[in-house]
Amino acid sequence: MQKIVDDIAAQMASKIEKGTVASYIPQLACVNPDQFSISVALADGSLFNAGCAQTLFSIQSISKVFTLTLALGKLGERVWNRVGREPSGDPFNSIVQLEHEQGKPRNPFVNAGAIAIADAIIQGHQPKETLAEILQFMRFLADDESIAINEKVAHSEELTGERNASLAHFMASFGHFQNPVDAVLGTYFHHCSIAMNTVQLATAGLFLANSGVNPATGYRVVSSKRARRINSLMLMCGHYDGSGEFAYRVGLPGKSGVGGGILAIAPGNASIAVWSPGLDTIGNSKLGTEALELLTQKTGWSVFGK
Ligand code: GLN
Repeated sequence: MQKIVDDIAAQMASKIEKGTVASYIPQLACVNPDQFSISVALADGSLFNAGCAQTLFSIQSISKVFTLTLALGKLGERVWNRVGREPSGDPFNSIVQLEHEQGKPRNPFVNAGAIAIADAIIQGHQPKETLAEILQFMRFLADDESIAINEKVAHSEELTGERNASLAHFMASFGHFQNPVDAVLGTYFHHCSIAMNTVQLATAGLFLANSGVNPATGYRVVSSKRARRINSLMLMCGHYDGSGEFAYRVGLPGKSGVGGGILAIAPGNASIAVWSPGLDTIGNSKLGTEALELLTQKTGWSVFGK
């Protein structure tokens, strides 16, 4: 496995076309695009890294996997009253379907869906308490107390978050919100701004690769049924309108973020985190996807067969 990840990192280092760093969040625009890392956490808890695996990056929408997991823990099946389970076929920040579907987002991974999930998990608490809970969950999953929110990124998102504010107010106009829109948005922007490296992220995703149990810590995080279902949502919706392409090329449940990270799950085998800040036109990491494509070719881990 070490040779495989070393080979992949070497191939990525030689690429000329690295994609474009997200610019609509100014703090993300200043990240050096010339970086790559990969961490593979095997289901037995062993870990293999290549590239700058200790460098922190903004996990952005990858956080939506973990807020969904928290929401399912708190609300159970009632989560599905707030968001659907269908791929959207639209960009991550699209508003169009919300009008046709009475303000109910198609899935928990588009921005509108994750904002609705943030509203659901606040449950009458202060946003600060909810954020502390999300952060504590990430630290528990990654077995690393150092994980923190990058306040500069959160502030940058808040300043330029008109689109997300539109989505939130539009949903609230249907009477769906239980908390003030600003509190929900603040929670959403901050959980997107959690900074992690690929080692921490691959470890945090292990419970999804191992039927709900984190083998690194021995703790059961969710039931095996729930882990399977979260994986299904990642496969169908984790890359927005690029989910079909990601399934075709990589063949794993995955969740991308505009910070350039991707968490991919090879059920029964591994949790994989890759990071390269340059994005494709849809907003998914360009080299991250190429690296995962190589990894599944070399390992035969695609859920669709060898
Ligand atoms: N925080 C980002 C946003 O709201 C998340 C988007 C993403 O990672 N795709 O726009």
